Amino acid sequence: MLSNDCIFCKIIKGEIPSAKVYEDEQMVVFKDIEPKAKVHLLAVPKEHFKLLSELNAERASLLSHMLQKIPAIAAENGCAGGYRLVINQGDDAGQTVFHLHIHIMGGEVLPV
Ligand code: 5GP
Ligand code: ZN
Repeated sequence: MLSNDCIFCKIIKGEIPSAKVYEDEQMVVFKDIEPKAKVHLLAVPKEHFKLLSELNAERASLLSHMLQKIPAIAAENGCAGGYRLVINQGDDAGQTVFHLHIHIMGGEVLPV
């Protein structure tokens, strides 16, 4: 289920452009518009929900699918040397887009 007023849902529907590097029936991966690392991708499930606290069995399986796909997608996009995954949750973490997503950052040695 997608939302009408969510920027990532609009990207999934193709209503706004993005630099996609991977897509299948369950997820899309595109370049972050304001990269915070040399490689900065966003992996986004094709279902609109905000937080890990909203996981149910179906969403958990969606996330499992994403985690299984991410290593190859990262390696193919300049992160063969390693990468960092981040999932911001809520205001204190600075979450700005309220559609759950996984940041994939790498392409360089990241600061600890
Ligand atoms: P958050 O802070 O919610 O964890 O991450 C949201 C991310 O989405 C930010 O890194 C931001 O740069 C990125 N972002 C926001 N709007 C857009 C957009 O329209 N296109 C793309 N490609 N990235 C976006
Ligand atoms: Zn959404």
